[in-house]
Amino acid sequence: MRYLKNIDPEIYQVIKNEIKRQEDNLELIASENFTSLGVLDATGSVLTNKYAEGYPGRRWYGGCINVDQAEQLAIERAKKLFGAEHVNVQPHSGTQANMAVYFAALKFGDKILAMDLSAGGHLTHGHAHNFSGMYYNVLSYGVNRKSETLDYDKIRELAKRHKPKLIVAGASAYPRKIDFKKFRQIANSVGAYLFVDMAHIAGLVAAGVHPTPVPYADFVTSTTHKTLRGPRGGIVICKKEFARKIDTEIFPGIQGGPLMHVIAAKAVAFREAASVKFRVYQRQIVKNARELAKALALEDFRIISGGTDTHLVLVDLSNKRITGRDASLVLEKAGITVNKNLIPFDKKSASVTSGIRLGTSAVTTRRMKEFHMRKIAKFISEAIESSDDEKKLEEIRKEVLVLTRKSPLYPKLCEDK
Ligand code: PLP
Repeated sequence: MRYLKNIDPEIYQVIKNEIKRQEDNLELIASENFTSLGVLDATGSVLTNKYAEGYPGRRWYGGCINVDQAEQLAIERAKKLFGAEHVNVQPHSGTQANMAVYFAALKFGDKILAMDLSAGGHLTHGHAHNFSGMYYNVLSYGVNRKSETLDYDKIRELAKRHKPKLIVAGASAYPRKIDFKKFRQIANSVGAYLFVDMAHIAGLVAAGVHPTPVPYADFVTSTTHKTLRGPRGGIVICKKEFARKIDTEIFPGIQGGPLMHVIAAKAVAFREAASVKFRVYQRQIVKNARELAKALALEDFRIISGGTDTHLVLVDLSNKRITGRDASLVLEKAGITVNKNLIPFDKKSASVTSGIRLGTSAVTTRRMKEFHMRKIAKFISEAIESSDDEKKLEEIRKEVLVLTRKSPLYPKLCEDK
């Protein structure tokens, strides 16, 4: 950042402070991760200067020879990584990837069946204030009250009764494996499209740690920045027959010029995700999540669905006399970053919540293992028990710092951090 330091000392300071925050704290937000320095290099490159409306070999602007190569590499690598017939790597975000699928498959007012937000679904799966809830007729499925896992018989029943045009599988806060084959059978039984939003689990899928939805779904979308550990952005994967429609919906449908620096960084991330090292990393993410869930249960936390098969642990705080909102504030004081989250059948509102959502991808990126998860569970428990004790929270923060200092993230990023 030597140029930035002179050109804009204020923004330089903001970034420096953020490097410190990321280095010092325990990052347990399930939708976040730390990219490699290679991904950061590409994201911060001169490719940001280039306009490239259109697709490789079919651009509206001249001078696209190099960005064409970057996008082609990203496409080929993503196709190979996920065994896909067609991939569009241009969506600026997961939300835009999802919007392209809805626009390609549906007419306004069509029925969709998707996971309820309170059961773990995402805003783009039909929230009233999201385009998905405003433009489509949304029916929701949840989880079984007892097992807190997907009830496929119930989903089949809902599909048969309401005949949706499209079924959405995938979630933001569901810790268990999703059976995409069953979803396909349900979709077939009512002639619906199957759309899988694998944003959270894309890294696990790439590494073969979670079953892939790609052979079963008509459309698959993902963000590239969660378990997949790429830059902030999205992708759409689809069968060949929908390729043209999806490409047209992304550009010129809902986006203009693609972010070529981000697309190059996606290519870097796909290359990294194809490595043996990445598979080992993804397996460790799940081992860490299981250990964290187990250790928290030993501290008398109730774990939604009794555990996890993924990177994600959903914790019910009802027996701890603290809300999700307050717990996240308390934990932040102790140097632990989490988010409040609704739990299935939550009696509290989405801005208060009875739960917190934890994820292990970011701490696993900094080489933490099961031993660290047991320590983290202790820190979480102690912090929540001492929510009014500022001195104790400060003590925990210092212990967190000892842990994070032993696993530095970006040692060479800022000379004077
Ligand atoms: N889909 C799911 C399942 C998500 O969890 C998210 C984000 O958290 C998104 C889509 C949207 O991604 P973005 O924030 O990039 O729009």
